[in-house]
Amino acid sequence: MVEVLFKEFVSLCKKLEKTQSRKEKVRILTEFMSKIGPDNARIVALLISGKIFPEYEDLKLDVGLSTVYKVLKSLKSGQTLLLEKPSTLKEIYNSLRRIALIRGEGSRRKKEESLRSLLLSLSEDERECLLRAIFGEMRVGVNEGMILEALSYALRCNLEVVRRAYMFIGDIGELTSKAFTNGCEGLKNVTLELFRPVKPMLASMVYSVVEALKEHGGICAFEFKYDGVRIQVHKKNDKVRIFTRRLTDVTVNLPDIVDLVKNNIKASTVVLDGEVISLRNGKPLPFQELVKRIRRQKELPRLLREIPLIPKFFDILFLDGQVLVDLPYKERWSFLEENVDAEFLSERIITEDLKEAENFFKKSIESGHEGLMAKDLSSVYTPGIRGKKWLKIKTADTIDAVIVAAEWGHGRRRGWLSDYYLAVLDDFSGGFTIVGKTFKGLTDEEFKEMTKRLLQLKVREEGYRIFVKPSIVVEVAYSEIQKSPKYRSGLALRFARITRIRYDKSPYDVTTLSELKRRYEEQFLRKQRRSK
Ligand code: AMP
Repeated sequence: MVEVLFKEFVSLCKKLEKTQSRKEKVRILTEFMSKIGPDNARIVALLISGKIFPEYEDLKLDVGLSTVYKVLKSLKSGQTLLLEKPSTLKEIYNSLRRIALIRGEGSRRKKEESLRSLLLSLSEDERECLLRAIFGEMRVGVNEGMILEALSYALRCNLEVVRRAYMFIGDIGELTSKAFTNGCEGLKNVTLELFRPVKPMLASMVYSVVEALKEHGGICAFEFKYDGVRIQVHKKNDKVRIFTRRLTDVTVNLPDIVDLVKNNIKASTVVLDGEVISLRNGKPLPFQELVKRIRRQKELPRLLREIPLIPKFFDILFLDGQVLVDLPYKERWSFLEENVDAEFLSERIITEDLKEAENFFKKSIESGHEGLMAKDLSSVYTPGIRGKKWLKIKTADTIDAVIVAAEWGHGRRRGWLSDYYLAVLDDFSGGFTIVGKTFKGLTDEEFKEMTKRLLQLKVREEGYRIFVKPSIVVEVAYSEIQKSPKYRSGLALRFARITRIRYDKSPYDVTTLSELKRRYEEQFLRKQRRSK
């Protein structure tokens, strides 16, 4: 088995940080990963992409900045333990895992002690690299797309094969390990498996039903866009598991949906994609209320009564032993219809008629939903991909952004971190890049909770501003996108306002810089059209 020293990983990071060219970065990564075996390559892919642990594990280190400072202060400068042999990448990674798994009484102290002995065993360079990994700021300029390219070179495997395998596996670490274990042939055979969730298919935004019809060749399926929580249900006979869009298993929080699926869906094996909502007096409950059902497990018995859920399924990915993702939408929907009662299906029409589509949009809004989803009738299901085959049409312009820094408020908001720096995903360099700032949109309750969460994520402090590990995702409405000399991204949101905290989304789900650029361009075109 190949042993990789942690210091070799540190050198790799330094090399990547110094290299500007994307192509050269991919080459360096390919060369490094090809030589180290599946398990080490898995760890490299996770750390380099700023993840540490696979998303679906929901495992967190839970060591804040203050703990790290305390530990660093207690180590005298230059103090390192003389080890018989230097630490390997695997040893360091396993130590991080052990720290994350410390829970319960006295866990803060135990984590601190473990971190202390871990840092003590490292050189200054290694320490810095590890701390960057802990705070999710590797600064090596590598994104997941580049790791996929590196795998494609290393295995001499078509990039599309690697991408498709990633869509089904959903975790960059596991994909990397599989790639180096089973080679290109192995990746070709990767497909959907029962009880292994896949990343859900995503949608791009358009501003009107006309645009959607045009994009899809004059006819599309329009479905209500529900403002709920995305679920993926896997069922085999009496066994049911439910996953969120971040692939976390939330079966225990949704016993009512489990029963409903068991009692109503006759197929022996099935995977369904849908949204859960809750209706009160016929109107959907706001998202903020709804997510309590998923987040507050202790209060479940009460919440089960107060917030009864109803699923609205809109896709079927697996049925009676067959993977359906490569069938066109139209055919998948007929299987869906055959297996799910109409009341649990997303409301929809298929039309080429503009008026009919516009009325359906109105109907969705009047019923309290978010708008429409337009789906291309011949499209296959592409997990994790935000393409044009699914288009969302909403009334307001919103993006999903991640908070990367915050400032202490004054006046009425004194004592709260209430001014937030909003960032999108820079899909070229792999980092997050700021596109705006806002203090608008949250309730006092939410400000308080946000302050608590942000302090736990603190990475560094500059006066009244703190920088945080990118983790909290918010949906942000804005009036316009402007060019900005102030932000490195070159763009800024005008009149940004938080419309809700997206507990269900990961920072890697946020809007990308190229999407924002596209919207900026389109905004001009729309204005021009209007002024004609
Ligand atoms: P967004 O989160 O704004 O990118 O919009 C996409 C999300 O809308 C999906 O991830 C689903 O959670 C949700 N959604 C609601 N209704 C539908 C539908 N009929 N089809 C697909 N997604 C839907």
